[in-house]
Amino acid sequence: MIFIGGVGPRRKKLENHPRICSGCGLSQAYLVRVDDYLSLFFIPIWRIRKGQPFIECERCGLITDESGQVYAAGTNLRAINCHRCGETLKKHFRYCPHCGAKL
Ligand SMILES: [Zn+2]
Ligand SMILES: [Zn+2]
Repeated sequence: MIFIGGVGPRRKKLENHPRICSGCGLSQAYLVRVDDYLSLFFIPIWRIRKGQPFIECERCGLITDESGQVYAAGTNLRAINCHRCGETLKKHFRYCPHCGAKL
């Protein structure tokens, strides 16, 4: 028998209702916790370490604690909206190609 096991992180969503993300303003932030599990044959069987809960936005990736302190800036947010015409643009754009507004 070959032993296939190891320790790996496991994400757990602690709430089913999303919270408002302070980064992008949409209610797609969830309270989650990452625990370390010992797994055997890729099935987690034993929790080794209980992680601290944090709030992670599924849209922009912003991670904060429950009091709103930012742990990690959102990195998933690839698109922004033009403040003048509302078109969706790439984050690195400096001028809007649709209406010419400076971003
Ligand atoms: Zn967000
Ligand atoms: Zn525009």
